[in-house]
Amino acid sequence: MTAGQGAPVALLGGTFDPVHYGHLRPAIELLEGLGLSELRLVPGHVPPHRPQPRLDAAMRCALLETAAADIPGLVVDRRELMRSGPSYTVDTLAGLRRELGPERPLCFVMGSDAFRGLMQWHRWRELIGQAHLVVTTRGGDNAARPPALDEWLAPRRARHPGELRNAPAGRVWFHPVSRLEISATAIRGLLARGFSVQGLTPDPVWRRLAATGLYGYPQASRATRPG
Ligand code: ATP
Repeated sequence: MTAGQGAPVALLGGTFDPVHYGHLRPAIELLEGLGLSELRLVPGHVPPHRPQPRLDAAMRCALLETAAADIPGLVVDRRELMRSGPSYTVDTLAGLRRELGPERPLCFVMGSDAFRGLMQWHRWRELIGQAHLVVTTRGGDNAARPPALDEWLAPRRARHPGELRNAPAGRVWFHPVSRLEISATAIRGLLARGFSVQGLTPDPVWRRLAATGLYGYPQASRATRPG
């Protein structure tokens, strides 16, 4: 494998239905902590057997663009939405690798829960050939991994984040990020009941949600949280 060249680019996938600070704060911590040149938020289609997003792809992207506009280094990458069905991560990474060239360090960010299920991913062994894996950990997150995954991990585990710069792909780094008790599910629930989500997502996103009545937020409502 060639040596890494340039600051790493990272990719963080999700549904972003809608984007919130639980996505943005870890993204900022990764940008700074790993010295990334950019972190690409990649909204995806949701496989048919999973609950479908409430907002269409264009609106999820528009809200993401609104949120990313004020955060240097954060970029919205629509590549998965340009394809018609759900995308395999291995194909998404291969596409980005072709654009970046063989030497640029590329990181794929995933939560530790997703990492525990890595061996079920499509062509999972090929992922590490395209990118480093950055596994985000949040305090108190000590669930055991399958022994076969630990065996695969041992020779690839990075001891220092600097290792991500020294090669374009091939290492696994565990990066602690803040745990914010915010989920898109909770945000959708609050809006549907007519409650504000200010403070859970950037103000420009909240204003857009409120003004357009997305997720059923009643535009005329003056509802307040019960005391
Ligand atoms: P939902 O509630 O609809 O399942 P979500 O906000 O939990 O949505 P996604 O939009 O799919 O989930 O999340 C994208 C990525 O952000 C995932 O890697 C997920 O682990 C991470 N993420 C989501 N919420 C948080 C949070 N509160 N703190 C840290 N990471 C988060």
